[in-house]
Amino acid sequence: MRKEMARLIELDREQSLVGHIEAVLGWDQETYMPVKAIEERSEQIAFLEGIVHEKRVASEIGDLLSSLGSSAENPMGDSSLLPEERAYLRVLRRSYDQETKLPADLVMDLARTVSLAQAAWAEARAKSDFPAFAPYLEKMIELSKRKAACLGPGKPPYDVLLDLYEPGSTEASVGAVFASLRGELVSLLEKIRARPQVDDSFLSRPCDAARQAAISQWMMDVLSFDKGAGRLDTVEHPFTTTLGERDVRITTRYLDDAFASSLFSTIHESGHALYELGIEPPNAFRRTKLAEAASMAVHESQSRLWENMIGRSASFWTPLYPRLQELSGDALRGVSSERFVKAINKVEPSLIRTEADEVTYGLHIILRFELESDFMAGRLAVKDIPAAWNEKMSSFLGVTPPDDRRGCLQDIHWSQGYIGYFPSYALGNLYAAQFWDTMQSELSGLDTKIASGDLAPVLSWLRKHVHKDGAAWLPGEIVQRATGEALDARHYVKYLNAKYSKVYGF
Ligand code: ZN
Repeated sequence: MRKEMARLIELDREQSLVGHIEAVLGWDQETYMPVKAIEERSEQIAFLEGIVHEKRVASEIGDLLSSLGSSAENPMGDSSLLPEERAYLRVLRRSYDQETKLPADLVMDLARTVSLAQAAWAEARAKSDFPAFAPYLEKMIELSKRKAACLGPGKPPYDVLLDLYEPGSTEASVGAVFASLRGELVSLLEKIRARPQVDDSFLSRPCDAARQAAISQWMMDVLSFDKGAGRLDTVEHPFTTTLGERDVRITTRYLDDAFASSLFSTIHESGHALYELGIEPPNAFRRTKLAEAASMAVHESQSRLWENMIGRSASFWTPLYPRLQELSGDALRGVSSERFVKAINKVEPSLIRTEADEVTYGLHIILRFELESDFMAGRLAVKDIPAAWNEKMSSFLGVTPPDDRRGCLQDIHWSQGYIGYFPSYALGNLYAAQFWDTMQSELSGLDTKIASGDLAPVLSWLRKHVHKDGAAWLPGEIVQRATGEALDARHYVKYLNAKYSKVYGF
């Protein structure tokens, strides 16, 4: 290995170490930290942030990248380098450019606007007063356009923002996938709404925290979560965080009258953890940026594949349901496995994305993508967002928000400057369905194996085709290599139709 490459790895590992130390503090803050510790904890974290930032923008990195032939036009560097070295340079070039291309005054302006906009959003939301938030959103859009111009001069701004969250994606690529998906979801939803609703009332029977904790621990074992390399704790909003190469923490919460919530959040977060723990780059690249996940949407594809495609299937519960009944006390007494599977797949249009089922979820995201695309291109004025939002809610989902609090003010993302972020939520589902479809055709008798309690073939397929190489490939390349074709929404549509025609009987 050339000495410049070795030095880059050394510098990158220092960033990774500090980043993981920061993650330990963040994890502790969310789980066990006593409330009065918050003041110094914030300072501790900010201090480490400062160190990480300095390390990320060090000019030595830029010099080393150039000396290895990596530039904006040729991020992978000299063609004489090994494939993993070239992949690594592409990852480093991307992060280095993102960290260094924004002028300091823009970074400060963005930070100030985010903090003002968040406060304004919280107040506007409480009063359901969109006009009070509108000036902040206008400013945020303007700054996002400036940011895009610095990161990708000459490129359409929305393309640059989308690529930030899902490397390699553009408005055209996402738009093409969503355009075919939208009509399919709307018509599937119409079919479902014409059928009698499934009964899921038993899912709100009481089940105490101790029982739910036992269910979660059991579920982690079922999914082959290595408890020597991670653990489960409780928080307000479940998440997964990586504290080290062999240390991935997951979290959940126990609601007495909604035990299925912790069950599925544990499966979801375990899916994230299995991905993190499955990354195995060549030895020389351990604990570098090559050993990180490929993108947020690829991450989400792993959590959702386990949660939905597997965890909400009849085959999965065939061998496991009796044990779940036992562990949940009286909650599932007298409920057949068939009724349980229907209940956990109930579809019901709602106003809020975070509560959406598998069918309506994508429609919430497509709505957001279309609005962002319109206001970024100047086709939609900020003042007209509430009306456009409500109109799309009614035409996609058949429900109209009674006020802006439950409409366009419902979540914090735009006030945080996360424009271009939403599509990755839906792309995760689409990647998952395409992996799932391919896996089923490559592994014969997979369903029978799952129904006999054997999940090993699923995990080894994912390890080989998705986890192992970490960030070496762009998301689009992972999909192409694993499934032999580009991302196509028809796999998701096929999966949904097969599942919901059974659940709702059409
Ligand atoms: Zn997730």
